Amino acid sequence: MNSKNQSSIIIVGAGIIGTTLAWYLSCNFNGKIMLIDKSEAGLGVTQHAFAWLNVSYGRPDGYSKLRQLALREWRNLDRLTNGQLNINWSGAISWQENEAATRQFIDSHSEKGFKIRGLTKHELQAIEPNLLTLPELAAFSEDEGYVDPTYVTQTLLKLAVAQGINYLPNTDVLAMVHENNKITGITTSTETLYADQVIITAGVGAIELLKTLQVTLPLFASPSIIAHFQSRGTPPAMKHIISTPEMEVRPATDGKTLCAEDYIDDTPEHSATHIAQNALCTLKKSFISTDDLNLEKAFTGMRPMPQDEMPIVGKVTDFNGLYIISMHAAVTLAPLICHLAQDEIIHNTEQAALSPYRLTRFASGN
Ligand SMILES: Cc1cc2nc3c(=O)[nH]c(=O)nc-3n(C[C@H](O)[C@H](O)[C@H](O)COP(=O)(O)OP(=O)(O)OC[C@H]3O[C@@H](n4cnc5c(N)ncnc54)[C@H](O)[C@@H]3O)c2cc1C
Repeated sequence: MNSKNQSSIIIVGAGIIGTTLAWYLSCNFNGKIMLIDKSEAGLGVTQHAFAWLNVSYGRPDGYSKLRQLALREWRNLDRLTNGQLNINWSGAISWQENEAATRQFIDSHSEKGFKIRGLTKHELQAIEPNLLTLPELAAFSEDEGYVDPTYVTQTLLKLAVAQGINYLPNTDVLAMVHENNKITGITTSTETLYADQVIITAGVGAIELLKTLQVTLPLFASPSIIAHFQSRGTPPAMKHIISTPEMEVRPATDGKTLCAEDYIDDTPEHSATHIAQNALCTLKKSFISTDDLNLEKAFTGMRPMPQDEMPIVGKVTDFNGLYIISMHAAVTLAPLICHLAQDEIIHNTEQAALSPYRLTRFASGN
């Protein structure tokens, strides 16, 4: 990495995106790869993800298709890593405010070729016996699942390191080094590291990094709340991901129960802990076997959210040798996007599936 002549890549940021990219590159790139993080792998917003691997609803068709392909790529990645990622393909159950809205939800997903079916009250009761109040109709998306995002990140890192990448934790990248418009490396507080390409996968940290090049990234930090609940000796009350107008809940691989909640504002009555306490009341009203369920911890995570909520992937065109990957729903999308991106990074071949998601689509024309 210290010689300007080596074929080399530096990845800045070891969240779900940086480690997934490092893993794909470690399989296919012959040069040197260094993955740098200012903290430790997976300890950015990735650790706070609800980590539901899902398709989206009410989004442009092309994006829904991308999310469907992303679920397939997770299965592919699972095979390639010999099941070490512990993906739980439980499927997801959901319902809307009323039966007509749930029917429309099912129909619109089916029309787009997604595997989804309706569940009657009786069928739902059979697969979620602890639910107290059941709708007449629920949707079941059998192809969806969840992961432990920190575990997956650290596992992919371990596999990438075993395949030869260098990992540099606790190293804050301060700026990119460039000669005119060619990026040649990065600087930390202690040294300069040179590389042929620098890939920014720094989550919300990408905003400050690109600012050092006078590039305004159309991305903001979007807060969202995660709550962890545990009970003494009782397994989670639910067996699937369940998403309703009242709650978004799932069992966790370590026997806990997770809830994702909307952030409201920074007043004390809307703190993560208060919102999590309210979620606990909802859980207790919704399921039997939740009497000894307790709030363990709650956090507000800052999601990297592009202005139009679509991924940002590709070259930063004012600069040669600089590539960025930043998006919301990165847990769902990371394997597909990183698989496609590694081809662009290694072979400089444009992937058509990524063309709607270039930075150039924003008016600023970076
Ligand atoms: C409550 C909640 C629920 C969510 N649910 C889902 C879900 O169900 N499904 C889904 O797909 N997504 C979900 N998300 C979104 C998901 O968590 C993010 O999209 C994803 O984790 C972003 O990953 P990342 O690798 O880009 O960012 P990060 O995990 O933040 O990784 C970026 C890394 O870069 C490092 N870094 C930053 N700046 C620098 C620097 N200057 N130098 C060196 N290192 C640096 C950081 O330390 C960090 O480790 C959820 C998020 C939240 C908060």
